[in-house]
Amino acid sequence: MAHPSMAHAGATLTIDLAAIRDNHRQLKEIAGGAVCAAVIKADAYGLGASRVAPALEDAGCDTFFVAHIGEAIALRPHLNPTTRVIVLHGPPPGTGPDFVAHDIRPVLSSREQIQAWSRLATRLGRPLDAMLQVDTGMSRLGLAPDDVIGLADQPGMLDGIRVCGVMSHLACADDPQHPANAEQHSRFVEALRLLPPAPACLSASSGIFLGADFHFDMVRPGAALYGIAPVPGRANPMSPVVRLQARIIQTRTVPAGAAVGYGYTHRTTSPRRIATVSVGYADGYLRALSGTGCAHIGDVRLPVIGRVSMDTITLDASDVDEHHLQPGASVELIGPKTSVDDVARSAGTIGYEILTSIGNRYHRVYAH
Ligand SMILES: *Cc1c(COP(=O)(O)O)cnc(C)c1O
Repeated sequence: MAHPSMAHAGATLTIDLAAIRDNHRQLKEIAGGAVCAAVIKADAYGLGASRVAPALEDAGCDTFFVAHIGEAIALRPHLNPTTRVIVLHGPPPGTGPDFVAHDIRPVLSSREQIQAWSRLATRLGRPLDAMLQVDTGMSRLGLAPDDVIGLADQPGMLDGIRVCGVMSHLACADDPQHPANAEQHSRFVEALRLLPPAPACLSASSGIFLGADFHFDMVRPGAALYGIAPVPGRANPMSPVVRLQARIIQTRTVPAGAAVGYGYTHRTTSPRRIATVSVGYADGYLRALSGTGCAHIGDVRLPVIGRVSMDTITLDASDVDEHHLQPGASVELIGPKTSVDDVARSAGTIGYEILTSIGNRYHRVYAH
């Protein structure tokens, strides 16, 4: 994906690859001895998988998860040939040969997927790697308990399949007190007992913080690698990864009673200095941040007033010295003063959605 130059873009997104590597090291340490894979679906949560994955390889990460086969194929040329690429959604009907051609492993979540993968292995006359996923309570993807018992009774269903892992996914790991964690854990252990021996993988970012019982042989964080707080409400131990600095296009002084933005939703109650900044919802600066988001110039907070437009926001810049408000000057939207989680809170969503909404109009800088 080609991104605009700094001079041509409305904002600069800085992605700190060293911080991502640092977060990987930290998560690996907390997971004490477990393999630390990395989830880089949705273009590494909007940060650029083709840059993020090689940086993580440098930190010793050799296993990557994506959601779709298309994502896996796009990523393959950027990775070492020995690096494992695993597709969470498994093979859509008819795509098995594409997995084989690009050396990509599926997660198999249904009897049908297992049958098709086994048939393909038989046809090719060689074993094919795959992970198995069991549903332990989330009712999203994975073999149902009856399917697992069925597999235990008919191990021939797995003919030709080299089971390189067994996984499940926690629904409530971000709430350490939630009873679902222990319940899913015990269902997972039961499934492991019934299935062929293979490395076990249960936890994503938040699950890693549930303690050693949840680490098994492999963990697969996404969000925490990218600096999102893994345990909401607790101090965030991860290094911040993203910085977003946007440009002022124009400033103006308006009198008391002036309307600001679409729908005239904001009215000034006193004379105000307004800065219009070239970021909008088309860039992933969500419209839900209308009247709730904020920017910073140095230590000064500039509230977003009025609605977020497609390409612009309007800030109350009355408290900022005029020399900071020249056209082209920059304001911080994500950075030391405002974390991704802070932006999410203002928008009524989660950090995941803030990152994955990032568009392609920002100038991008990858810091090493
Ligand atoms: C997205 C996803 C992950 C990564 O989750 P984070 O909370 O971002 O760490 C792991 N496993 C599965 C199955 C996922 O869908």
